[in-house]
Amino acid sequence: MRLLLHACCAPCSVYCIESLRQEGIEPTIYWYNPNIHPYMEYKQRRDTLKEYTKSINMNAIFKEEYGLDEFCKNVINNLQTRCQDYCYKIRLEQTAKYAKENGYDAISTTLLISPYQKHEQLKEIGQQIAKKYRIQFLYRDFRIGFREGQAKARELGMYMQKYCGCIFSEEMSKSAHQKKDEEESARANRDTERRIRLSDCVPNLDFRPLKRENKEEIDFIYNIKKEKYKEENKKELDKEIQNKLFERYIKENAKNIKVIMFKEEKIGFFDGKILENNTFRIDNIFILKEYQNKGIETAISNEILFENEKVNKL
Ligand code: SF4
Repeated sequence: MRLLLHACCAPCSVYCIESLRQEGIEPTIYWYNPNIHPYMEYKQRRDTLKEYTKSINMNAIFKEEYGLDEFCKNVINNLQTRCQDYCYKIRLEQTAKYAKENGYDAISTTLLISPYQKHEQLKEIGQQIAKKYRIQFLYRDFRIGFREGQAKARELGMYMQKYCGCIFSEEMSKSAHQKKDEEESARANRDTERRIRLSDCVPNLDFRPLKRENKEEIDFIYNIKKEKYKEENKKELDKEIQNKLFERYIKENAKNIKVIMFKEEKIGFFDGKILENNTFRIDNIFILKEYQNKGIETAISNEILFENEKVNKL
């Protein structure tokens, strides 16, 4: 099969090319993306694809067209549907036209890898355009390899773009980043305020969510729970049963376990539940023996009460 593969950029091409090659298909890459703006971004993506296709010894055709004015004129009246109404169509139409004129049997596009594109509409548009030119649209759901491809592109040191392509997508991405920054900064402020309040009661006291992937942290909790059981029941529990119970405990409670820190050292933890009104109810507080009766339990409980009051006022 002679396949002309429209490529939106190098990072998205990595997995598509590798998986097609595994199927025994050697595509020719076709660059045609007048939707990418501003010009330096267009150039950066195009040049990255040039270098990449050269490095993997793959045929690539670059149809140059930088089209800010033309693109904006065509999408400005309906920005919400610009992808499916215009952007996919012009790129795939040009790809199909070139394919037909140059003896290819089929076209496809690396846009099919992106979980951020309107996949079903893209597929339909590809099929319609291919039919019009009487060639095949080779459909593959490349989305399955999106993360893998992006990771490989990063490993190869490729330029990784931050937005889809047009200036409207750049604006959306900037707003999303701004929102994330604002949320992070609000959370950091809340954490600082909480540390100040806790330190007012017991200097250098703090707590933070359990890091479930941190084995040392999980072991710390396991040992405290084991000691607690021994103390309460005056005997040790069978190791196998103990492990099973602990695994279940972590599975059910990990999200709501907070590790208590004193001078950056773990000294205990507490667990609980988020109630329907979004407040937090502490169920158990466990503190290492040497830190008990120093007001730590009270400081933690008061802090949670304080946070719950704030939630109630919202
Ligand atoms: S968001 Fe992406 S696919 Fe949609 S119009 Fe812009 S560049 Fe094209």
